[in-house]
Amino acid sequence: MSDEAETVPETREAFALLGHDIRLEILLALLDRWRAAQTEPQGYSDLMRAVEMQDSGKFNYHLGRLRGVYLRKTADGYVPTASATALHRAVLANRPTESVSRHEFDTSVACPACDGPTTLTYDREFFSLRCPSCDELVGGFTYPFPKNGLRNRTDEVVFETVYDRARTQVGLARRGQCPDCAGTTTVTVDPAALDRDGAFPVGISCETCTWVVESGFYLPLLSHARVAAGLLEIGLPVEEAYHWDLPTPSTTVVRTDPLELELRITGPEGTATIVVDGTLAVTSVTTSRGHGPR
Ligand SMILES: [Zn+2]
Ligand SMILES: [Zn+2]
Repeated sequence: MSDEAETVPETREAFALLGHDIRLEILLALLDRWRAAQTEPQGYSDLMRAVEMQDSGKFNYHLGRLRGVYLRKTADGYVPTASATALHRAVLANRPTESVSRHEFDTSVACPACDGPTTLTYDREFFSLRCPSCDELVGGFTYPFPKNGLRNRTDEVVFETVYDRARTQVGLARRGQCPDCAGTTTVTVDPAALDRDGAFPVGISCETCTWVVESGFYLPLLSHARVAAGLLEIGLPVEEAYHWDLPTPSTTVVRTDPLELELRITGPEGTATIVVDGTLAVTSVTTSRGHGPR
């Protein structure tokens, strides 16, 4: 029977399969050697030796249980499936280690409201940038980050890394792809949120996994080439700025059905007008150069 023909068990069964020492040993032996798709498959007897088993009946049974879910048989032997390698990566990314048990990090980011120092807090794998004086989340910024990303990085670099990750991933999600599982995303823009203080008009969620984000217009749009070029043209180098340091866009609803919004941003050297639709797809970016307000 080919692996493709085997039934794919549901999540519960897939996790339950790992609850056995022999199966775990087999999987770890495969993952231990695995580097990329080019990694040589492991032969039956090599694998049996690696897990130190003599009873081939028992070994066969557990090998069979893993087949299709966590490993696959090829002409040359056994290889882990993408599920197994993804699970392995997820564990490595988030494993608890002593060096990353901290909850507060220093940044040199100034609060946009009071110009005071901010604190970066890390809780349940989410980073949040707060201003203790204003008692506010700076720029509404809170974003998940794997623990592994804290290793070998200074506090200052940690924050830049988290922000870079958020900007890249939210940009990818705006374009329709989940940064975690590659599934399709749904992007919504709620014009009613524009009138509510502190509300986020943009919502992006994955249709397959639990990846979800709420944000203002900047974060999902800053990795858009024409938007970045337009903002640079009016004197706003977005690569060097955090979105809360950029001027707040004035937003106009051009049409409601289908939704069309105009975001006008005035920088030191002119004004940029970005037109987006209800899925935050960019329709146009225009700039007019000239002195903005000082
Ligand atoms: Zn503040
Ligand atoms: Zn997803």
